[in-house]
Order: sequence, then C-alpha cells, then structure tokens
Amino acid sequence: MLHGSGIFALHLTDTQILTLGSPAVSILFSFGFVLVWNYGRRRAQYLLLISASFFVYALAAISQILYIPRDSGLNALFSGGLFLFSLLLLSSGVTKRYRAHFDGVLHGLAVIATLLALAYFYYEQPDVVVRIYVLNFSVAGMVLLSAFRIRTISRGALIDRTFFWVYLLFGISFIVRTSLSVTKAVSNGASAFLASPFWLALQMSLLLFAILLAMVLLAAAMLDIISVLQHDRNIDDLTKLHNRRSFEERSLRKLVAHRNESICLVLCDLDHFKVINDSFGHHAGDMVLMECGNIIRRCIRKNDIAGRFGGEEFVVLMPNTSLAGAARLADRIRAELADANFPAMTGVHPVTASFGVAELLPNESLSDLFRRTDTMLYAAKKEGRNRVMLDGAGTVSGHIEEDANDVVPLST
Ligand code: GH3
Ligand code: MG
Ligand code: MG
Repeated sequence: MLHGSGIFALHLTDTQILTLGSPAVSILFSFGFVLVWNYGRRRAQYLLLISASFFVYALAAISQILYIPRDSGLNALFSGGLFLFSLLLLSSGVTKRYRAHFDGVLHGLAVIATLLALAYFYYEQPDVVVRIYVLNFSVAGMVLLSAFRIRTISRGALIDRTFFWVYLLFGISFIVRTSLSVTKAVSNGASAFLASPFWLALQMSLLLFAILLAMVLLAAAMLDIISVLQHDRNIDDLTKLHNRRSFEERSLRKLVAHRNESICLVLCDLDHFKVINDSFGHHAGDMVLMECGNIIRRCIRKNDIAGRFGGEEFVVLMPNTSLAGAARLADRIRAELADANFPAMTGVHPVTASFGVAELLPNESLSDLFRRTDTMLYAAKKEGRNRVMLDGAGTVSGHIEEDANDVVPLST
C-alpha cells in the first residue's frame, strides 16, 4: 500500500521500490527505441510502436504498483487495460518489423472482451483467480498469435531466430507464471501473496523478459541500420551496382576463393555518352546509365560481381567462367542495350557500348587483369565501337556461337 504524507513524500515498501525497477527500465528502453528510430533516418516505423509498447507497459506497471487509481476495481481495469494495450502495440510492432500479417481486429476484440470479463469477475461475480487467468491467457494468446505470424523468421538470421524464441518463450511464460502464481495465491491468500518473495520473483521474470526482448529488438534494429549504411557505402545509387571500392574489395576476395578456376573480367564503356548528355540533357544520360545497370544486373549470374567504375564505365568479374562464356555475357549486354528504348531519346540511333574481355592468367594481379582488359576495350573503341573485343582473340559482335571446347570465338 502507498501512504503519501504531503505532495512530495512517498513512502514505498521494499517490494514496491524493487518492482518499480521494471517500469523504470521500460521507460529507458522506450526512449532507446525512439533514439534508434531517429538514428535510422526515421525509416523503421515499427520502432515507434515498440517504443510506445514499452512506455504503456511502464504506465500499467506504475498504476498497479503505486495503486493509481485508488479503487481496486478501477485499478484492476485501468492497469489491465494498459497492459493489454501495450501487448497489442508490441504485437503490431513485431509483425510490422517482420512484414507479417497483424490480426488487428482479433487483438482489438481480445482487449475489449478481456476488459469486459475483468469487470464482470470484479463487480458481478468477484473471483480473483479467474481474473488472473483471463488477463494472462489473453496476453499469452496475443503474443503467441503474433509469434505464429512471424514463425518463418525461426529459419532466418541468427538475430531473428533469437528474437523468435525469446518472444515465443515470453508468450508461454504468461501461461506458466499464471499457473504458479494462482496456486500460491489461492493457498496463501491474495494479500499475503502480493507481499511474498514469490510475487517479486514473478515480477522480476517479467522484467527479465522485457529486458531480453528489448535488447534483441534493439540489436536487430542496429543491425538493420548497419546494413543500410553498408549498402549506401557500397552500392551506386543510380545503377544499383557496386561502386569502385566495393567492387575491388569483393573481387579480391573472389580471386582468392576461386584461385583454381578460370576467372574473367568484362569492361564496358558507353559509346559517345558525352553526345547523349549534350544533346538530351544530363537526366536522359542518367536514364541510360540506370537502364545499363538494369541490363547488367539481369544478365549476370549470382556469383558474378558487377560494378560501376566511374562515369559511364561498367565492370563485371566472372568467377568460374571461360573467356568464351564471358564474351557471351558481354555480347548479350551489348545487344540488349542496343535494343533498349529510351523515351527521352526517341528516333535517335541506339545507345551502344564497347566491351573488353580478358581471362585472369596464373598468378596475375587484379590490376594487371584490369590493364589487359582495358587495352581490349580501347581496341573495341578504335575498331568502331558497339563491339566486344577478347584478349588474344579478336572482336565479337552480334551472336556468339556456343563452343563445346570453349575455344575463344574469332572475329565476326
Ligand atoms: P567514348 O565513346 O569514346 O567513350 O566517348 P564518351 O563520350 O562516352 O566518353 P567521354 O569520356 O568523352 O565522356 C563521358 C561522359 O560521361 C562525360 C561525363 O559528363 C558523362 N558522365 C559521367 N558521369 C555521369 C553521370 O553520372 N551522369 C551523366 N548523365 N553523365 C555522366
Ligand atoms: Mg569512359
Ligand atoms: Mg564512353
């Protein structure tokens, strides 16, 4: 019980002081989620729902511990209502984070039905045991339903798997905790039970779950932010291909991983791109670069790495690929680009590109391979553009024949 003497003095019992740790921690987490939301450029809206959930949970706990409002019926309904609402917010935030279905109507109905049942079992047919069951099983139902909705993450990344199991156990804990507390409450009497170390331990288990859930969710949100930052740092905004630095980093790793295989490099440079810019404007030029990025991404395989190497130059590293195979890819990109339509440039000659292709020699460095491929690209420009030039072989334009022996195709 709370005894106030004057406005500023609150005399709290030890149990109250200890259990107040729970709302205090929840409020801190609530602010933590807002900070992470703000830091992540306010993109992850689900963090606001989680933040609100922790805040409302803190209000529910404060209302219960400090006994506000001071009418046991109203208090049970008010704190119970806040508690249910905080779980509704948590379920909606969690399902939003994992892009799963949120059963809003069902959750809403569960909250209303639970409040009506709490009122009934307080005013009409007083029964504290039934009230405890109703509230906790309703909460468990909400948590377990949303856990079911996000169940696919149990096979996902480590952080998501961890969250799933903590969340599932959190839901189950309401059932287990209720069964334990009801047995004790009934045998010892409700008021003795509320002062018992057992009640404190139960409250602490809820706090432990709140901390675990918050930590895992915060870690997941931070990892999301890191991955967005990494993406921004590595990927060219216009073409969605790797930028030069990221391309080089990944290529060096591929060179090590595939050192016993044939590895090829394709360099591509748009033809007379300056004329496109000068005649149709920079925006039209950007559209061409974007489309070129789309074509390259469509044509490459999963294991290939494609990058934009500055202005209108592109590069593809192809592990486990013969020179003939790399030439086929280059020619496909060349043909698709030549066929592409650009609305801003109707009635104009097709946009074309020139290509150099070379295969990595034993013990050759990436920069040496680049130099040789660039020589081929330069030769393709000199030969008249819109063509693919292979190292040590010749020019290829148009369709390249499939060659069983992987012999380098000759000039057409
Ligand atoms: P070549 O056939 O010999 O390659 O001629 P080119 O005109 O394509 O080559 P050049 O190197 O003379 O011109 C490249 C142009 O690419 C010049 C530059 O303004 C333009 N450019 C570079 N980056 C961008 C970009 O991000 N957007 C647009 N629209 N243009 C760019
Ligand atoms: Mg260029
Ligand atoms: Mg060019």
